[in-house]
Amino acid sequence: MLHLYDTAAQEVRPLAMRDAGSISIYLCGPTVYGPPHIGHGRATLVYDILCRYLEWTGLTVRLVSNITDIDDKIIERAHRESRPWGEIATKCENIWFDAMGRLGVQRPNDVPHATEYVDSMVSMIGELVAKDSAYTTDDGVYLSIEKVPDYGLLAHQNIDDMLAGGGDRVVFGADQKRHPADFVLWKFSKPGEPAWPSPWGEGRPGWHSECVVMSLDLLGEGFDLHCGGADLRFPHHENERAQAVALGKKFANHWMHNGFVVDIEGEKMSKSLGNVSNLLDLLDQYDARAYRLLLLQTHYRSPVRVGKENLDASVSALSGLDGFVARSAANSGGVADAEVLTKFRIAMNNDLDTPAATALIFDSVRQANVAIDDNQADVVIALRSAILEMTSALGLFLNESQEIDAEISAKAAALDAARTAKDFSAADALRDELQSLGYVVETTKEGTRVRRG
Ligand SMILES: [Zn+2]
Repeated sequence: MLHLYDTAAQEVRPLAMRDAGSISIYLCGPTVYGPPHIGHGRATLVYDILCRYLEWTGLTVRLVSNITDIDDKIIERAHRESRPWGEIATKCENIWFDAMGRLGVQRPNDVPHATEYVDSMVSMIGELVAKDSAYTTDDGVYLSIEKVPDYGLLAHQNIDDMLAGGGDRVVFGADQKRHPADFVLWKFSKPGEPAWPSPWGEGRPGWHSECVVMSLDLLGEGFDLHCGGADLRFPHHENERAQAVALGKKFANHWMHNGFVVDIEGEKMSKSLGNVSNLLDLLDQYDARAYRLLLLQTHYRSPVRVGKENLDASVSALSGLDGFVARSAANSGGVADAEVLTKFRIAMNNDLDTPAATALIFDSVRQANVAIDDNQADVVIALRSAILEMTSALGLFLNESQEIDAEISAKAAALDAARTAKDFSAADALRDELQSLGYVVETTKEGTRVRRG
């Protein structure tokens, strides 16, 4: 059974399942106002690895990941560029899913959009107001955190300490709030801003109200796992949870957060530091599998530096893996080495110890290469089969240089052409078509690579 570190409990504990055999996961999705950065790539890859592994163990995974398609940042960009806000959101969402496809990240089972849930958010805020857990000011409706007895559970700080430290100005802005940490559920709109009707006045939902409504609607109370980057722990996840608690609803049973991507000096990469690296640039320069491998070699809770040196090292490690698979092609099929797979499960079940799992893969390749030289076909077959099982369980698909027929190659070339022309809907349609024909579509430095799944 998978054991994971739970941010709320502050310990590694079994990932319990509400419904036997299936697992419900909510991952906070992007606010679509700009290109995805390398940190977004990390978050989606970590949870793609988690979901693929859980599926490999035989569980049914239901992953819900939203799109925040209404937000101050989208509105600011629309004003700055004199464009409709909806156009920016749609375009950025297409770029997002194109990048995720290139990374080999499986599409979530559900992708709710915040704008489709505004009525439900208004009803939820109405319930909170009726319970006296929320109140109205001149600029919106706020949640009263004093109505949430264990507020601070994810932040692991008491509120007075957080306030003494100064903290986040957005969260602690004063005005007419009853408590400085109260947060906005509904923002009244200013002239020219997108607006929806509500009993309190026209406006739009606050970010924290979006995820709580969408996760509870699609996954139901007491869903298994809520995850996201460590930067979402507080205030976003704390505030999502606070609303559920104030409503008297059971929220996520387990909380998982991945570590930051840091630059060479070890500082967190963020837009405010001006050192954001665009994920699309990485994907243009490298085989997307190199980023996945780099993350596999780092524990998901540790910070990771993403730079030329370690990406180049991953490319070279990948060529060793691809080379082995091609070299051992004559020994394909057969039953996987059970002992190796048991070690793999033990490593992965131990808070997703992907560095240990990856070391096991490389070690198995070394042993199999020796067995090839010694003409021990049985050993090669068992190890090769185990290696391919493990890599595919992690979404790291090795290149077996299979023959692909001309019609499929032509579709892959058309996909590249569509992407170059930035016709992302055509590119998506081609990728979907190839996948429905049973091919795995990967984006590499040299262009699209397809192979039988
Ligand atoms: Zn969220």
